[in-house]
Amino acid sequence: MKIIYKRSDIKDKVKALKANGLTIGFVPTMGALHQGHLSLIKKAKLQNDIVICSIFVNPIQFNNQQDLEKYPRDYESDLKKLENLDCDLVFMPDVEEMYPEPPTQKYDFGFLDKVMEGKFRPGHFNGVATVVHKFFDIIEPDKAYFGEKDFQQLTIIKRLVKDYNIPVEIVPCPIVRESDGLAMSSRNLRLTKEQRIQAPYIYQTLLKAKENYKKFSVIELKNWIKEEINKNSFMKLEYVEIVDMQTLHSVNNYNDIKNLIICIVVFLGEIRLIDNIKLFY
Ligand code: AMP
Repeated sequence: MKIIYKRSDIKDKVKALKANGLTIGFVPTMGALHQGHLSLIKKAKLQNDIVICSIFVNPIQFNNQQDLEKYPRDYESDLKKLENLDCDLVFMPDVEEMYPEPPTQKYDFGFLDKVMEGKFRPGHFNGVATVVHKFFDIIEPDKAYFGEKDFQQLTIIKRLVKDYNIPVEIVPCPIVRESDGLAMSSRNLRLTKEQRIQAPYIYQTLLKAKENYKKFSVIELKNWIKEEINKNSFMKLEYVEIVDMQTLHSVNNYNDIKNLIICIVVFLGEIRLIDNIKLFY
């Protein structure tokens, strides 16, 4: 496994690989790798000749300075995990390398980046789109892998490649959970022991909502989830939305749309956890 730090080096490397007819799968991450990330690498390994993983904690997608400073970093352990999976290349640029000049790009994804994460984390998706667009430009992968845990991000990246005619196939990957149901996240490392014990309650509530949704109207279901979460003294709901999986528009009743998803964000202390569940009917 080769570790590359410079844009020009990875560009040259990819050029040589492509000249030999090899296909490139790309998995962008911010490190502190867990089985969720590794599931993306495994899928990429199955579908491509060469897999490139990037590890870059992208400062411009953090709307909260403390969150950026406290974001877990463990490059040594990340590299071991990638090596074990036979990842071919790791791209680990520093901030200077990615942003030699302060980035100025402004993206507008219409409704998609105005709701949920877009509303509660101003500038977040502009930062995500900027870095992913740059990565696609540098690496020119055939396929790129994104987790459904960040469902809105996945939707926006699909839109980014359409809007800018980027010739990459976006491959969605299902959420990987701990055995108790908690969606794996690098931020889970920051939970206290007690918070960690409580955290699976988020997914348990989503599962109950999915099981019982026919008994409630959409508004009632959202209110029920809100009350359930806020009943737990360790938790504070930031938002819950029931939206069309394509447009991210909120729905008023279940007959509106075929594919719905419940998206939720919950704070445990200062740790912000995101999750979702698809509601098929
Ligand atoms: P991050 O390092 O948090 O930026 O995540 C890198 C990629 O891994 C993103 O596409 C995430 O959606 C994906 N990812 C993170 N956690 C999970 C998970 N539990 N299951 C599946 N994919 C995940």
